[in-house]
Amino acid sequence: MAVLPILHHPDPRLRKKTPPVQQFDQKLQRLIDDMFETMYAAPGVGLAANQVGVQLRLSVMDCSEHHDQPIVMINPEVLGAEERQEMEEGCLSLPDIRDKVQRYNKIRLRALDRNGQPYELEAEGLMAQCVQHEIDHLDGKLYIDYLSSLKRERIKKKLLKAAAGD
Ligand SMILES: [Zn+2]
Repeated sequence: MAVLPILHHPDPRLRKKTPPVQQFDQKLQRLIDDMFETMYAAPGVGLAANQVGVQLRLSVMDCSEHHDQPIVMINPEVLGAEERQEMEEGCLSLPDIRDKVQRYNKIRLRALDRNGQPYELEAEGLMAQCVQHEIDHLDGKLYIDYLSSLKRERIKKKLLKAAAGD
């Protein structure tokens, strides 16, 4: 397994809508293992394939306290959502930045696991927030898209400055 470099905003690869996964081969299994290792090392609770430069509709997540409940979400579809509320959010592609956005507190989805087997999931709280955040990534969106353009501009400047200082 390997820790992969995570792309930071405003990298254009974060802005593409990802195509569905079709091949459940060895290469995909290795990518999933590497994505988990990258996410846990960061540390983070979710990571989308396009954040490590791979254009596939695939995310890994683990919102558990002890990091022992890994979830692979492939080609997800939202079936239902309720209880919209404001939640604080961060993202591995926007280091050292957090802000409040509107999310659903409950969400129901259908997705495929790492072997291509379909499953349904009902998520609440942090897990529901994480699912919405990841699906946004797979659609080429970032949570800062929900903020004002003034705030977005300020964040972009801050990240470009940080990248220049590397
Ligand atoms: Zn993110």
